[in-house]
Amino acid sequence: MIDFRSDTVTKPTDAMRAAMANAKVGDDVYGDDPTVNRLQDMAAERFGFDSALFVSSGTQANLLALISHCDRGDEYLCGQQAHNYKFEGGGAAVLGSIQPQPLNNQADGSILLTDIEAAIKPDDVHFARTRLLSIENTIGGKVLPQQYLADAQALAFNHNLKIHLDGARVANAAVAQNIAISDITQYFDSVSICLSKGLSAPIGSILLGDERLINKAIRWRKMLGGGMRQAGIIAAAAELAITDQVDRLAEDHDNAALLAQHLLEMPELNVDISQVQTNMVFATLDKRFDVKHLTLLLAQQGILISSSYSLRFVTHKDISRQDILTFVKALKACLPQALTK
Ligand SMILES: *Cc1c(COP(=O)(O)O)cnc(C)c1O
Repeated sequence: MIDFRSDTVTKPTDAMRAAMANAKVGDDVYGDDPTVNRLQDMAAERFGFDSALFVSSGTQANLLALISHCDRGDEYLCGQQAHNYKFEGGGAAVLGSIQPQPLNNQADGSILLTDIEAAIKPDDVHFARTRLLSIENTIGGKVLPQQYLADAQALAFNHNLKIHLDGARVANAAVAQNIAISDITQYFDSVSICLSKGLSAPIGSILLGDERLINKAIRWRKMLGGGMRQAGIIAAAAELAITDQVDRLAEDHDNAALLAQHLLEMPELNVDISQVQTNMVFATLDKRFDVKHLTLLLAQQGILISSSYSLRFVTHKDISRQDILTFVKALKACLPQALTK
C-alpha cells in the first residue's frame, strides 16, 4: 500500500512500540502519570512555554485553546481555509458559544494584516467581542514567513487580542526553514501541535500556553470527556515523535519536491510548484479525465490518493523515494484508462 491521503496514516515506529510496552504509567486525571508529565514538561521547555497539555487530537487541542481564550459571546479571527474554522465541525460555536470571524486567505496562506485589523469589532453592544487571532502554519503545506508572524503578533498585541497558532504541522514549517520549532512558537500565546501526523505517534497532540490557560484547558478537557487515565502508554510514543521524528521530515519534503517535478512533466496535470514547500502536493487534472475513476484505478494497484477538491498527495514516513517513482509509473499507466471520451 502506498497511501498519499494524509500523513495521519503513518504507523508508529518500532522504537515507539517498545517505549509504549515499557512505559511507566499512573492515573493522569490525578496528575500521576510520570510519562505524561515528562512529555508535557519536555514539550513546554523545548517550545518555550510555561505549560503543556497532552490531549487526544489536534481538533481537541484547538477547541481547548479557543474555549480557554474566549468566553461565550466572544469571537476569534481566522482564515476561511483554517482547519479550526472549516474542518472541526463548528466545535467552538457548538461547545463554546464562540463565533468565528473567517477572513480570506491569500495564495501564500497568510491573512492580510489590513483584513485582520478591519475585522476587529469596536466595543459596542451590537458586536461580538473580538478576543483572539488564530493563525495556521503550515497551511495547505505552505510556510508563513517569520516576519509575517512577528507582524501578526504585534498587531494582536496592539489590539489587545491573544494569538493562537494551529501548528498541527509546525514541525514541517520549522524543518522547511531550517529553524527550531521554538523560533516559530515564540510569537504565540498558545500553540497546538499534532504528534500523530508526520511525526508518526499513533495518537495525540500537545497544547502549549501559560499556566492559567492550561489550567482552564484541563478543566474543559475533562468536561469534554478527554481526561485520560494511564495515558503514559501513548505519551511514550508521543515523546519519541518530538525527539526522534522532527529532523526526518526533511525526507518527506524532498519526496514531495520529487513528486511535484514528475507531475510537472505530465501534460494532463497542472501543479503550482510555488505551493510545494513541505510535504504536500496539490494538482488539478485536465477536465478530459474522470478523477473518481482514476482514484479507483490507482486504488486497485494499492495506491491511495485524496481527490475531493483537487488531487492532494501527502508524503510521510511510510512513503519512500522508491514509492514516489512507483506511483508516477502507475499514474502514467492509469491516465489513458481514465479518459472520459
Ligand atoms: C490535522 C489538523 C488538525 C486536527 O488534528 P486531528 O488530530 O486530526 O484532530 C488541526 N489543524 C490542522 C492544520 C490540521 O492539519
